[in-house]
Amino acid sequence: MSSGLKFEIAGRTVNQKQFFDNIQKSAVDLATNAVRKRISGVRCPVHGKSAGDLRQVAGQDGNLQWTYSACCSELRSAVERSMS
Ligand SMILES: [Zn+2]
Repeated sequence: MSSGLKFEIAGRTVNQKQFFDNIQKSAVDLATNAVRKRISGVRCPVHGKSAGDLRQVAGQDGNLQWTYSACCSELRSAVERSMS
């Protein structure tokens, strides 16, 4: 028995789980891009480098978390400040 709901992604019919998985992935990608954009503008006051190797990781309670590489703790605190 059909529910009458039809889920489509880019013209392709998918099931409900695929549909919501896709939305979630798109939202995470969007958020990751926003974080990348934000931290790419932050430079280390000591070394003049920016953070790199941004990765989205599974946080606790379903929160989104990201890891990144930084040359030192000065850059880390500069990044933290830019996020708040
Ligand atoms: Zn540094």
